[in-house]
Amino acid sequence: MTTLFRRAYPPAELPAGAYWWLPFCGPDVVVREDDGQAALLYGGMDVVAGLEFEPPVLLGSLDGVPCVSCQLSSTAELPTGWHAIGLRELYGKLDDALYGIAGYAAHLLLWQRTSRFCPVCASSTEPMQGDWGRRCSKCGHTRYPQLSPAILALVHDGDRVLLTHKPGWSARYSIIAGFVEPGESLEACVQREVEEEVGVAVANISYVGSQPWPFPDQLMIGYMAEYAGGMLEIDTAELDDAAWFHVDALPELPPPMSLSRRIIDAWAASRRRELLDGQSSFRA
Ligand SMILES: [Zn+2]
Repeated sequence: MTTLFRRAYPPAELPAGAYWWLPFCGPDVVVREDDGQAALLYGGMDVVAGLEFEPPVLLGSLDGVPCVSCQLSSTAELPTGWHAIGLRELYGKLDDALYGIAGYAAHLLLWQRTSRFCPVCASSTEPMQGDWGRRCSKCGHTRYPQLSPAILALVHDGDRVLLTHKPGWSARYSIIAGFVEPGESLEACVQREVEEEVGVAVANISYVGSQPWPFPDQLMIGYMAEYAGGMLEIDTAELDDAAWFHVDALPELPPPMSLSRRIIDAWAASRRRELLDGQSSFRA
């Protein structure tokens, strides 16, 4: 089943009827327990009646059903059967489309909380029409929700992949990641981050996919790149290990929700297919 999420922008107002509700308690999404499973709250304004909350935000509609978020008071007492759950913990417990909207809601609520005052003159800001921007009521400075682009880069060399480990990551290894600097293309960022973190050169950089990562405002952009030379030289300010792993001897990897894991899985599946094809043609 395909789902269609249509975004709404100010000054769109809440329509009458029932909505998918995404209330937040601090950084956590409030869901209800339905037969042991997490489910979104659904209904009209009566759903949050009796709770203290900031003005609701209309995010858009999913297959025609409005999706509404609001920040609950930090001291709100949740009704029986409601639970406040962190976005990371909620992964896999909601339909993918609803989970994506929960991430969007978290990002927008953060923007609402942090954009009330002008960064230039400290006067209050006002909402703009047609998007989520805010304009200073005194000096006219405008701002829009912040997005922080960051690249992910899987470096491969035949049957082996270069994985890195950061302090505090238990046994898990992942691919190289880093924020895009001002004035930098995504491809240049891949080259720079790989060079800075592990000291090697890469070539044939190809785009794999992207993922909003609302922790708190990142957009992950994933690449694969071929190893093109150089000895491993680890940036110990960021990493405590980096090593080549054979496709059949991978270490513990990031959780399935992450784009980094999907890139590693996609590379490993394609390498294993090529290895199998090579073996069968050898036998023939
Ligand atoms: Zn101002």
